Amino acid sequence: MTDIAPTADTTAPFTDLPLSPALQATLAQLGYLRMTPIQAASLPLALAGHDLIAQAKTGSGKTAAFALPLLTRLNPRRFAVQAMVLCPTRELADQVAQEIRRLARAEDNIKVLTLCGGTTMRPQRDSLAHGAHIVVGTPGRIMDHLERGSLALDALNTLVLDEADRMLDMGFHDDIVYVASHCPAKRQTLLFSATYPPGIAELAGRFLRDPQTVTLTEQHAGSKIRQRFYDIKHEERLQAVGVLLKHYRPVSTLAFCNTKQQCRDLVALLQAQGFHALTLNGDMEQRERDQVLIQFANRSCSVLVATDVAARGLDIPQLEAVINVDMTPDPEVHIHRIGRTGRGDEDGWALSLCSPADRRRVGALAQAMDSEPEWHTLGSLQSGNDAPLVPPMVTLQLLGGRKDKIRPGDVLGALTGEAGFTREQVGKITVTDQSTYVAVLREIADEAVRRLSRGKVKGKSVKVRALAD
Ligand code: ADP
Ligand code: MG
Repeated sequence: MTDIAPTADTTAPFTDLPLSPALQATLAQLGYLRMTPIQAASLPLALAGHDLIAQAKTGSGKTAAFALPLLTRLNPRRFAVQAMVLCPTRELADQVAQEIRRLARAEDNIKVLTLCGGTTMRPQRDSLAHGAHIVVGTPGRIMDHLERGSLALDALNTLVLDEADRMLDMGFHDDIVYVASHCPAKRQTLLFSATYPPGIAELAGRFLRDPQTVTLTEQHAGSKIRQRFYDIKHEERLQAVGVLLKHYRPVSTLAFCNTKQQCRDLVALLQAQGFHALTLNGDMEQRERDQVLIQFANRSCSVLVATDVAARGLDIPQLEAVINVDMTPDPEVHIHRIGRTGRGDEDGWALSLCSPADRRRVGALAQAMDSEPEWHTLGSLQSGNDAPLVPPMVTLQLLGGRKDKIRPGDVLGALTGEAGFTREQVGKITVTDQSTYVAVLREIADEAVRRLSRGKVKGKSVKVRALAD
């Protein structure tokens, strides 16, 4: 086993790797010029065929670290499942499938299929019968397909366990064992995880062959994440969140609570105070969850309130602030939480609310992070800016999605063509199976709904509405 821990700025260009010219061209088109540290550490090993245990924080580019090796080995002319990625949730499976499709776009006949619970088996069985090259899904649903004989894995050469720690947290251990035991013995297995609890070693010992280990537990650069601790009384906790938001005015904030009930209470309070806040939890319907994530990622919701379980692994770029509404007792979880902000070249705020009972946790944390905590009081915050905090975008939902062969370009075309808006007024466009979501500047939202409803998308008239937020 080898341990590699390169620093953040030793990343090499992708052109150093033995990738096909088509993949190299796609990477260049996507603007992936240099490898992220986890990619630089794991790609040469994975491309050489080694099994791998790779540990790195969320947002470090793990998807491409396994997608490029599996695409390299894929034979598009062979209509059989050659690679399978296990993910803990449907959202994560969708994100992974999307990233693989992006990376595979130079070959337009590579079929990536997601297999997750929450929808009926039938259409999935039909899609499988039509042939898929890559399957991305949750262990439970993939196990169902294996049991019913609708998924054959004889041609599989790459098995990926993504977010392995989270899958274990969610009780997928036995399902993973079942699925892995149905894969051919001669294969490459790649295991990705944000943390390395003992259960992972057990899984790895069972399913990986002579694995190489790549660990990137890089400390977050202190200069990018500005961390402040607020000394509060326990009963001030929920009220304090609005005070911080009004003062710092971040466009996007992820607020962590330790329980679902606390999440619900906080969202209710923030909404009552006029903030655009939403929460994610396990009781929500899938479509509702999708809408929450889409609105948050496209900047039409200011605050996403979540527990660690609900937020793990989600790829949310451009986060100006993380608020620890409740402190976590685990320093590793704290570091992981605040690592969501201050990505890339941007600065981020990590704001933590600490009552006297939390003080001991901050002590342990300061030791783990090897830094002196910076204490502040709520009273020191300017209450000068009382203007409401309003997200810059609004999400419009169009009924019609991937099933209707709608692509992002069709919607952008409708808005910038006939409807007469400019490209700059349009934000992120997300196409799901049944719906398409497009973010537009708040100022033009009403007019955009009117004009889109009057016009056509892909030659058809569409139902459009602004999502209430
Ligand atoms: P992780 O799985 O580690 O949480 P992701 O694979 O979701 O991270 O990647 C996070 C984001 O970074 C994605 O939006 C992805 O498109 C982008 N990304 C990945 N690798 C690169 C790269 N080498 N250069 C630029 N962007 C990248
Ligand atoms: Mg990931």
